[in-house]
Amino acid sequence: MAKLYFRHGTVGSAKTLNLLAVAHNYRSQGKRVILVKPEMDTRFGKEQIKSRAGLEMSADILVNEETNLLDLDLENVSCVLVDEAQFLPAGIIEQLRQITLLKHIPVICYGLRTDFRSHLFEGSRRLMELADSIEEVKATCHYCNRKSIMNLKHVNGNATTEGPAVQLGAEESYFPVCFSCYSAQLKLIPQVEALV
Ligand SMILES: [Zn+2]
Repeated sequence: MAKLYFRHGTVGSAKTLNLLAVAHNYRSQGKRVILVKPEMDTRFGKEQIKSRAGLEMSADILVNEETNLLDLDLENVSCVLVDEAQFLPAGIIEQLRQITLLKHIPVICYGLRTDFRSHLFEGSRRLMELADSIEEVKATCHYCNRKSIMNLKHVNGNATTEGPAVQLGAEESYFPVCFSCYSAQLKLIPQVEALV
């Protein structure tokens, strides 16, 4: 059996850049990799997987609720790489788990752990439950030098927990923050100054 990996990090932690680097390494060795992303993520064009650093590659598979990944031609595939895995339905994560078991192909999923309200995404929850390896892609808090673990949403310059949980936005709307700054920005703890 091959392994299922979940590499999670906040916004701006270069997860996609990491994914593209892994894909590049395999391909430069003449190995076949499959790039997967949720169909709903169309920020950079329907099929593009693009990092904020500017690199991009085309996705091979756009996944939706109807997709059956086990029907794919995975002949001679060395690795399956998944971008924005937090947006995948739990059933698709289970299919990826089956690929590692039945097809002996490692699957590496990149995504956010939680939404801007601090709750696990559906895809991330199933990955936490099923992955062999859970790794953190680290980034620094937007406001201080602690490690970020939360994703803070800004609308018109104000921190908020309003709006839909699944909303794909421009980078300027979301910030990687530590829990202390998350609490302070959202005014969750009245005496937060004493804790910083
Ligand atoms: Zn902070």
